[in-house]
Amino acid sequence: MIALLQFLGLAECDCLSCGSTFRGREQGFICESCLQNLRPYHPLDYSTSLDYVSSYRVYGLYEGALREVIHSIKFNGVKSLAFRLGQIIKGHLWEYIEEVHPDIVTFPSLNLRRFWGRGFNHVECMLQGAELPYLKVFKRVDLKPPLARLRGKDREIAVSGHKLKEGFVDFLEGKRVLVVDDLLTTGSTIKRLAYLLLSVGAEEVHAYFVAKA
Ligand SMILES: [Zn+2]
Repeated sequence: MIALLQFLGLAECDCLSCGSTFRGREQGFICESCLQNLRPYHPLDYSTSLDYVSSYRVYGLYEGALREVIHSIKFNGVKSLAFRLGQIIKGHLWEYIEEVHPDIVTFPSLNLRRFWGRGFNHVECMLQGAELPYLKVFKRVDLKPPLARLRGKDREIAVSGHKLKEGFVDFLEGKRVLVVDDLLTTGSTIKRLAYLLLSVGAEEVHAYFVAKA
């Protein structure tokens, strides 16, 4: 019933960020004024370098409304909000693109359980919202090795399970690649992806994150 009312734009919803009550059809759980108030955060601290990554850029901090938006997309599966977030970050993302001139834009693949649970790749929806063409060069191989027997880096690699699609291995040689992801936390995912790209001859890897934890 709530879903139907929401679809018709009649359901009332409390904004997860500011608490105000609003009606919205595709809004998800965040009110319009909170969305409109999202701005790139600066100055952002870029003193931490990421192994194998030539440069990176972050839209905002993972707090306040931005945190609620990302949370709603990932855990409540609000696809329209992912698209909308793409529209919001569009200007900032394109500015970075003018700086680094990537040949290819791509994003991490979700593991199958997450993908089927949510039904969409939220970063892909954001890129569509930002009107940025992309290629899907990664895939996930969710092997389940006996993790207890693996240590340190081996364990990290086994857990991440990110791989390049075979068809892109030759194609990536000499390319400047921009990887877009939602959240920068420890950086272990982007380092792994950048390592994979460089290992097949990519010239440079740059990264863009919607938020930094
Ligand atoms: Zn609000």
